[in-house]
Amino acid sequence: MRSKPTILKLGGSVVTKKEKLFTPNKRAITRLVKEIKFASVESLLVIHGGGSFGHPVAKKYRITEGFKDPSQIMGFSKTHQAMVSLNKLILDTLIQEGIPTMTIQPSSLVITDNGRMQHMDIKIVSRLLELEIIPVLYGDVVLDSVQGFSILSGDQLVSSLAIKLGADRIILGIDVDGLYTSDPKIDPSASLIQHINLQELKNLQYKIGEAKVPDVTGGMRGKILELIPAIEQGIKAIIVNAVKPNNVYRALKGEKVIGTIIKKGDKVA
Ligand code: ADP
Repeated sequence: MRSKPTILKLGGSVVTKKEKLFTPNKRAITRLVKEIKFASVESLLVIHGGGSFGHPVAKKYRITEGFKDPSQIMGFSKTHQAMVSLNKLILDTLIQEGIPTMTIQPSSLVITDNGRMQHMDIKIVSRLLELEIIPVLYGDVVLDSVQGFSILSGDQLVSSLAIKLGADRIILGIDVDGLYTSDPKIDPSASLIQHINLQELKNLQYKIGEAKVPDVTGGMRGKILELIPAIEQGIKAIIVNAVKPNNVYRALKGEKVIGTIIKKGDKVA
């Protein structure tokens, strides 16, 4: 039987230069594509974030608030366009390296309900995996049955696809070494959490906002909240720094790598 899929998420902070509008990190994209090639995982699905492509446009037009006034409509199109152009770069690089791949546009696959995915037909994704074609998806604008439209984040896609496809593992590539006790970019005393189990992860989520306890903020908070349902299903996750060479390769190969391993029942180290 074919092995269970691996879901690899490449963060927007990795594939783009987050502080420079519409600027891809071409060097990182090329390196990561080579890491994917050399790791040669049997069943792999790739999801990427928006970074300086999708986020600024979505923010400008307040897409997450849903349809409030007609001036947002153009923003809906432009956010999608921004993501398509980033996706094309990633797809082109994968194909240049001889990796069979195909983009699945999330907005033509999913309608959300108040920002949450209710239904997703995974038949096409499964078929591609069977043919050993790597499906590539990304955070996208989607139609929403309550709000008119919404954002479907790459992180929400990661978890839902992992559950629906019965994935073996999730690898999240971000721009810091893993999950820390607080935001390492702000707090110099933040320490890396190398292993964490489901209960600990939930506790971390509950403690958000309290002082002097592990704190998850910004992009990391959303990631943790999205990851929880997948971890509950017994899918393991590893968060690694994809800005540093070879971490994604090692994670894909199942080799030892600096990062955070999240398992349902693991003892916390
Ligand atoms: P991406 O867009 O690449 O998916 P984000 O930028 O949304 O990722 O989230 C990663 C960022 O989350 C890190 O760069 C870090 O600054 C921030 N962050 C906040 N809290 C934490 C934490 N407890 N541990 C690790 N990173 C954190």
